[in-house]
Amino acid sequence: MDGVDIDVAQLSAALQALEEQVSVKAEVGYTTALELERQAAAVGDEMLIARARLVHANMLRRTGDVATAARQVHDIHEWALVHGDRRLQARTHLSWAYLNRLTGDTAQRLEHALSAVELLDETATPYMQVWYRCTLADALADNGDMDAARPRFRQAEALARELHQWEQLTMLLNNWAVSEYENDDFPRAREVAARMLEHAAAHGFDLEPAQLDTIGAIQIENGEYAEAEQTMLVCIARRDAGESDNADDLAEYLLNLARAQRGSGATDRAQASLDAARELCVDRELHGLLVRVHQEQAELHAARGEFAEAFAAQKVFVAAKENLRARQEQAKALTRQTLFETAEAREEAQQFREQARRDPLTGLRNRRFVDEELTALIAGDPDLTVAIADIDHFKQINDQLSHDTGDQVLVQVAKVLETELAAVAPEGFVARLGGEEFLLVLPATPVILATRHLDGIRRAISEFDWHDTTNGLPVTVSIGVAGVNETSPRSQSAALATADRNLYAAKHAGRNRVVAGTEPEPRRRAYRDRTAP
Ligand code: GH3
Ligand code: MG
Ligand code: MG
Repeated sequence: MDGVDIDVAQLSAALQALEEQVSVKAEVGYTTALELERQAAAVGDEMLIARARLVHANMLRRTGDVATAARQVHDIHEWALVHGDRRLQARTHLSWAYLNRLTGDTAQRLEHALSAVELLDETATPYMQVWYRCTLADALADNGDMDAARPRFRQAEALARELHQWEQLTMLLNNWAVSEYENDDFPRAREVAARMLEHAAAHGFDLEPAQLDTIGAIQIENGEYAEAEQTMLVCIARRDAGESDNADDLAEYLLNLARAQRGSGATDRAQASLDAARELCVDRELHGLLVRVHQEQAELHAARGEFAEAFAAQKVFVAAKENLRARQEQAKALTRQTLFETAEAREEAQQFREQARRDPLTGLRNRRFVDEELTALIAGDPDLTVAIADIDHFKQINDQLSHDTGDQVLVQVAKVLETELAAVAPEGFVARLGGEEFLLVLPATPVILATRHLDGIRRAISEFDWHDTTNGLPVTVSIGVAGVNETSPRSQSAALATADRNLYAAKHAGRNRVVAGTEPEPRRRAYRDRTAP
């Protein structure tokens, strides 16, 4: 293809295959996602790009690059929000839930899993319908709330059957069984595992080694040791026949085999299996599993009546467990830190953007903000009025008092302008255009009404008690007004030019007044201050 002839529908289908294939190896998925992202970029379809990037992010998470994954998921989520795409939002929430699982952040994980399910609508694929509910149930189960998890598992099971999602049905029954098992409800775990077996038999497919491992573990807890040993032998044989190059799972299977054999009283076989498991654990630095190997070793010694050895092994187990707990906490803290830094960096960037749009002296919006916002405001609001307020004889304040005092006056004028404007136009804003010039923006306020409001603002400045700041020197402003529907063309530059012209007229007419009106000379509405000295 090489970007020449990419079919959008085909690309979308290829993406969906990747989105909905849980068993794909992360490295393979990563390469495929990158290629699909490249193709999406070549077609220039933003939705496809976002989807490809999300798959890419999920693969990054699985290969351990949590920080990049988190950043990407966040950006895609924002994009999905802006574009109102529920399906993509649901997918990003699910990705968040998986990220939170890594950090052990249970509350966040639940919240995101729940949001993912809440966003499911008729556009959600059958896969999503089933798997998202299962993920929510998993999160609830890991939180120890099986009463809440069970109905979700049940609903997911019913949906999987209704929508003929057979592969997923197996996976969800497996997860359900594991959840019951981990919450120590072995009879229920057994029931669910039996349904998984039945389902596999009915559809004529073999269970995966990991699923057999679930069954074996449950059989052990229910005292069915001979069956468990059989299950684990099949599990290991099937794993050996498959293409798995993952030693971690083999060590786990060998450990369960050892436990089953000990249960049957076959302690020599059990010891051989356990030794094999230990060797793999040491070789691959599987700390978590090694702890359980130590524990099983203690049990095995005890089963043989070797109580001194059992006691020694028990001590090794306890120490290793403590060590593991510390290790896991450290790893989680590290991941949390990474996620936190990502969030913080985003916030800082946001703050920086915000700062760049504010005047440092007065804290008001600045010229840059005006240039970015005003055009759109004018376009969307025919009754918008703008005004430029300029401090009268400001030079004198600087010269007669000090530049510092001048600054204080600027800050105080800014405060009065902002407070007074908020009272008459809460949706509006004040900006410092530069020097002692301010822009006031009054949305949905026709020019006549705005002029009256602005005259009140002008009066508030002149009536403010300036004594402490200027030692009695008066501070007043002149204001030039422009209603955007009066200016032609209706644009920012035309509006500001009109306001400026009226400001000039106000200065010319004696200052401390408001001037509105678009014509250069006649028909100008002037508001004289009657209360000022
Ligand atoms: P008019 O009534 O015609 O507006 O007279 P004016 O003195 O206010 O106008 P002019 O434009 O001549 O002077 C503005 C002065 O504002 C000049 C400049 O030094 C001062 N200025 C500009 N920015 C600042 C600032 O940030 N702080 C202080 N203290 N002074 C400033
Ligand atoms: Mg001035
Ligand atoms: Mg000026």
